[in-house]
Amino acid sequence: MATYVESFPAAGECVRCGACCAAWRVDFHWSECASGAGGVPDGLTESVCGATVRMRGTDHASPRCAALQGTIGQSVRCAIYEFRPAPCVELQAGSDACLRARRRHGLPAGTD
Ligand code: SF4
Repeated sequence: MATYVESFPAAGECVRCGACCAAWRVDFHWSECASGAGGVPDGLTESVCGATVRMRGTDHASPRCAALQGTIGQSVRCAIYEFRPAPCVELQAGSDACLRARRRHGLPAGTD
């Protein structure tokens, strides 16, 4: 019998989840912004320091990225999916970070 983590990516759970977009600060180099060489709209970011910018909303007490649309745990989408910054591209479904984010939102995470 497959474990939850093994079946997680195949289940298409990400489009119902969104927990990782409402759990962590999302910081990255400004060059990923439209004003640099990338496609992240500058208006969805805020300056942190030096060359580092952050997705708006991700440092709130109850974090939620400004680009996240929908209801966490039901139906979600990233409004800038094709242009999402490196930390979002690198976060893998079923990873420790993914499952920790799901637990923060009370979603099943394999050990529940
Ligand atoms: S940019 Fe998109 S993928 Fe990244 S945290 Fe925001 S909503 Fe999620």
